[in-house]
Amino acid sequence: MNGEQMQFKDLKRQYGKLKESIDRKIQEVVSQAHFISGPQVRELEETLAAYVGVKHCVSCANGTDAITIALLAHGVGAGDAVFVPDFTFFSSGECPALIGATPIFVDVETDTFNLSPSALEKAVKGELEKGELKPKAVVAVDLFGLPADYDKIRAVCSKYGLLLLEDGAQGFGGKYHGQRACSLGDISTTSFFPAKPLGCYGDGGAIFTDDDYIAALCRSLAVHGKNQDDKYDNVRLGMNSRLDTLQAGILLVKFAAFAEYELVDINKIASLYTEQLKDVSGLMVPSVPEGCGSSWAQFTLLLSEDTDRVAVQAYLKERGVPTMVYYTKPMHKQGAFAGTRSAVADCPNTELLCGRVLCLPIHPYLTEEETMLVADALKEALERCRI
Ligand SMILES: *Cc1c(COP(=O)(O)O)cnc(C)c1O
Repeated sequence: MNGEQMQFKDLKRQYGKLKESIDRKIQEVVSQAHFISGPQVRELEETLAAYVGVKHCVSCANGTDAITIALLAHGVGAGDAVFVPDFTFFSSGECPALIGATPIFVDVETDTFNLSPSALEKAVKGELEKGELKPKAVVAVDLFGLPADYDKIRAVCSKYGLLLLEDGAQGFGGKYHGQRACSLGDISTTSFFPAKPLGCYGDGGAIFTDDDYIAALCRSLAVHGKNQDDKYDNVRLGMNSRLDTLQAGILLVKFAAFAEYELVDINKIASLYTEQLKDVSGLMVPSVPEGCGSSWAQFTLLLSEDTDRVAVQAYLKERGVPTMVYYTKPMHKQGAFAGTRSAVADCPNTELLCGRVLCLPIHPYLTEEETMLVADALKEALERCRI
């Protein structure tokens, strides 16, 4: 560890390893001076589409815009119900609400932390019975790097004619029965926020689809509703949501490392944590269902009811181990939805998780020694922090 402070995500250590290639790429982009829509943007889109296994990748300014653009491209808006997991980052529900639709928050599973297919079907039926909103889309989130239960979620979507949007902001690199994350929805989105599995040096995002028409529509929506060939011919209202050429260049370098070894290495760290912690009483390690692979955006434990999470975090901090809690509040309890239809939800699992999850440091540059130190410190903390 060279005496340095352990980081929750160590982007400095990553830069130390990739410095030469990243510096060279930044120089290349700066000297070409094609800062918006430069050739590196298209090269990145083609590289990522091939990796994910879809026909089109449309880059944009961030993962939040990616969701908004994907929903707009499918005509989602006022009067529509969009089903969203109650346990996720705010954007998953913010985007449908911002364009006038109504997010309906649905409970998750306590073992995978992902959308519960049975709770989803119940929520869709409930909305159909009420008849006030038109069930239109599902935002399935690949939380903490693990793809959602797409076979079952897709079955519900097919039965009720719903659009399936995969929010793969945390999921890039994950696998589901031989398919890559970000190819699992009718349309899929991701984020290149620095702390995500594949991050840039600022904000960035992308949309993935096999549909030529939808891809063209997303491209237009991301650049002021431009006509396909003429950006000063505006045929619809859109956004200014582009990925900078500099970020695309940085992502090209980082993607090569991600595909070559980072994803493998972070899975080794996750396996070591699992092996060290799986039989420890007072916690549950994250479960990865058969046939699935996680990109480990987070390594999230479920603590037992009689464990004092605040005390565990304080003890670990004292030992030099940073921890985080994702997420502390169910979506339906966020102040932004207070007094709206979205605030009414029956999500006991989410409530339980919000009170009991704990995320450990994880990134591809964490050493085996550091991983063991975290696991040992956590075992000590659990013995000391029973309520
Ligand atoms: C980070 C995140 C987003 C938003 O991505 P940004 O690039 O920060 O806009 C959306 N959904 C989920 C689940 C996320 O974790």
